[in-house]
Amino acid sequence: MLPVHTRIAPTPSGYLHKGNAFNFLLASQLARQSAGTLRLRIDDLDTLRMQPEHMADIFESLHWLGIEWQLGPRTMHEQTTAYARHLRLPRYHEVINRLMHTEKVFACTCSRKEIREMHTHGRYPGTCRHKNIPLDYPGSSIRIQVPEHIAIRFTDELKGETAINLWETTGDFVIRRRDLLPAYHIASLTDDIDYGINTIVRGEDLAGSTAAQLYLATLLGEHSFLNARFYHHHLLLDENGHKLSKSGGSTSLKWMREHGVTPQEITGLLNFYTPALKFYRK
Ligand SMILES: [Zn+2]
Repeated sequence: MLPVHTRIAPTPSGYLHKGNAFNFLLASQLARQSAGTLRLRIDDLDTLRMQPEHMADIFESLHWLGIEWQLGPRTMHEQTTAYARHLRLPRYHEVINRLMHTEKVFACTCSRKEIREMHTHGRYPGTCRHKNIPLDYPGSSIRIQVPEHIAIRFTDELKGETAINLWETTGDFVIRRRDLLPAYHIASLTDDIDYGINTIVRGEDLAGSTAAQLYLATLLGEHSFLNARFYHHHLLLDENGHKLSKSGGSTSLKWMREHGVTPQEITGLLNFYTPALKFYRK
């Protein structure tokens, strides 16, 4: 088995929950059982949504869960001084510029509100595709044209052959935001490429993100990402069957730590998945 080089990528926008823990444990186990590496990569690009206590919660939760990572920041101080994503902005913009040369990009001046009013469930229907708005038009975002009726295909290690119609899932998606920050897909893809990540573990709700990033990797000719292994796992749900959210409630790891829940009750969740992992390992 080839060593798994994977990452966990929490966003400090709330307190981590059981579902985040499950994702981290799965990635950690894959790295460990293959004598690979686990990298901690904190997604701190969107500073407006971040609080220091949520950053601290990431480190506290990982230590509590007993997760060991070999690469990435060991402390909050290291994160802000050596690993902050802002330090990599020139590199992200280099990737955006490469995409600009594909002639598949266009500027979009639609506001969030306007897109909501298009009644396409958040999917962008290509409104500005042929308006020829200059790419440096103030206040515009840059989107990439997504082909219609073409499925992005990949083999999911847990679900098998997967095909996602990106046009129906995201439509023409943003690669550079109107505030000039790189979009999530750009930062995530660029880091995965630059850090030699060969295995990506995500919740199944992010399969559309994987498809978007595979599409970008194809345009960029980035074979390492195209050859990566993907694990899209089931999401843990609350007692009402809803997705867990990053609040401080009883499904948060912080609440559990403070109320005497043992980390073993969380790490035990992984046992349900272990047979599936063994089955799909080649
Ligand atoms: Zn538009």
